[in-house]
Amino acid sequence: MHPVIHLIGLPTDQNSSFERGAALAPPAIRAALWSDRGNLSAQSGLEIGTDVNLKDLGDLPLSNVDCAADDASIIRAVTESLDIDAIPLLLGGDHAVSYPVVAALAARHGPLNILHFDAHPDLYADFEGNPRSHASPFARILEGGHAKHIVQVGIRTLNKHCREQAARYNVDILPMLNFEVDMVPILSGPIYISVDLDGIDPSEAPGVAHPEPGGLTVREVLSIISKQSAQIVGADIVELNPARDVNDITAIVAAKLVREIAAQMHQNYDHL
Ligand code: MN
Ligand code: MN
Repeated sequence: MHPVIHLIGLPTDQNSSFERGAALAPPAIRAALWSDRGNLSAQSGLEIGTDVNLKDLGDLPLSNVDCAADDASIIRAVTESLDIDAIPLLLGGDHAVSYPVVAALAARHGPLNILHFDAHPDLYADFEGNPRSHASPFARILEGGHAKHIVQVGIRTLNKHCREQAARYNVDILPMLNFEVDMVPILSGPIYISVDLDGIDPSEAPGVAHPEPGGLTVREVLSIISKQSAQIVGADIVELNPARDVNDITAIVAAKLVREIAAQMHQNYDHL
């Protein structure tokens, strides 16, 4: 059995904390994905379209002012994909979108094992008074009981509050200090992958609101994803800010991640 993968854009940045712009990311990623500048193959040899059934559903119409209404729209869209056994692959938007996406997936599959790439742990109880901040989605996911286990890779901004939150929720943080790809565990299913593009080094992904030097290479991210063998039930690629991008390089990185994650979803299907 081969899965259908639904590509869904979430044009929202209402929960960004410093500067907005991530709402413009989905069309920028789509332009890079479907551009003739590259082809549609993944590193495994699987090809999007020929082997991997990736269906682009376009962008969800979001208000980008009413968070509760937009959360409900996101949950409805993800649930509609699940109702026809499709696997949702979401394009943010700011990182706050992971919370409704994971909530909808966990309602179907039970608590998920989450592989989270980010410079930041996004575990704030609230950030500057906003509990739905893009700095807080994994606190909300853990409070909601939507995660069995979270492994965070790329972290290099851990402060006291987030260290306490990580200990409280038993989050497995693999900091960049002394990082090796082999430290990342092979997770059991159901897996959710969340890629905040600022987890990647700004030299390879400059188009983000919070660039943080000393990050992961694109190659490391691809290696970590490709060694996962359990079923991937959903994923998001978030925090591209096209206004800060240089020659579309971050959009091109995001488009490559779409191809690679979709191919990995295809490859791991039925391997719970
Ligand atoms: Mn981040
Ligand atoms: Mn993040």
